[in-house]
Amino acid sequence: MNPFTLTRAVSPDEAVRDFAGHEQPAYIGGGTNLLDLMKENVARPTHLVGLNQLPLSAIETTADGGLRLGATATNADTAWHPEVKKRYPLLNQAILAGASPQLRNMATNGGNLLQRTRCYYFYDLATPCNKREPGSGCSAIGGFNRIHAILGASEHCIATHPSDMCVALAALEAVVNVLGPDGERQIRFEDFHRLPGDAPERDNTLQPGELITSIDLPAQGFAGHFSYLKLRDRQSYAFALVSVAAGLELEGTTIKAARLALGGVAHKPWRRSEAEQALLGQPATEESFRRAAEALLAGAQGQGANDFKIELARRAVARALKQAASGEQRASDVFTNSNP
Ligand code: SF4
Repeated sequence: MNPFTLTRAVSPDEAVRDFAGHEQPAYIGGGTNLLDLMKENVARPTHLVGLNQLPLSAIETTADGGLRLGATATNADTAWHPEVKKRYPLLNQAILAGASPQLRNMATNGGNLLQRTRCYYFYDLATPCNKREPGSGCSAIGGFNRIHAILGASEHCIATHPSDMCVALAALEAVVNVLGPDGERQIRFEDFHRLPGDAPERDNTLQPGELITSIDLPAQGFAGHFSYLKLRDRQSYAFALVSVAAGLELEGTTIKAARLALGGVAHKPWRRSEAEQALLGQPATEESFRRAAEALLAGAQGQGANDFKIELARRAVARALKQAASGEQRASDVFTNSNP
């Protein structure tokens, strides 16, 4: 690990100023991903701006009836917040499907959005990786790529985004609030993460020095009809091979509103408006769900070892929509028996 200095900012303005005053800085919240990257020499910041003393840990209702999640609130505190459990059980389930209780106690909301891919080659300094070292090549293409992307990949990178929380935030159409050297701005969640294209070293659309201050959820939380379905190699503490966040609004058995996002399949949570449009006005039936799955997976392409994910994702989408439509998972019984 490289030597580094550390300061602890007490206001967002101070954090942004401190970041701008150093050569190779990085923000650090819970450190659950960044410290691993530093120990492996994948990330080599020479100055860390500590964020845990910032007054950004509140979770509070917004004027438009939504909910604001502070950037430094932990994933655990967010998942178990009464308003999240009651109004956004999809988010509760997605967060609790990720990592371990210990990690969720440390990891922050802002950091969850910024965690980096778990592509094995990204962490292996002995192999080429365009994300770690632009222009060096992509070892996963033609290599071991069982966990890699089937949608939105490029010839430069086929990595996937690892977050569960972000899949739910995409489906809920959250908005990310940031503060940077040029002031505040808002970024729609679907514009926050990016596809790899020819610059896979960039995971998101943050400008240098911009700090996530909070994440806004709109009022509609799909608490009556939702599903977060995560398929993985083992039951806990594993990243998704495929995950689905689904939210439906029904009138009788007719679909009035629909949200769908896929995790584990692309460089960002994967949404496609055609898939959601295909459900509107349709009966909540297996046939409708399969059509939506086809639309969401249109153009999917395997890399060899991950070809199975295409059919897995199709079936997972249909199953998640069926679960959501059934209303089996109610906000009131979400994880009531799990570790609080
Ligand atoms: Fe690197 Fe992306 Fe290729 Fe993985 S898939 S080796 S992260 S360039």
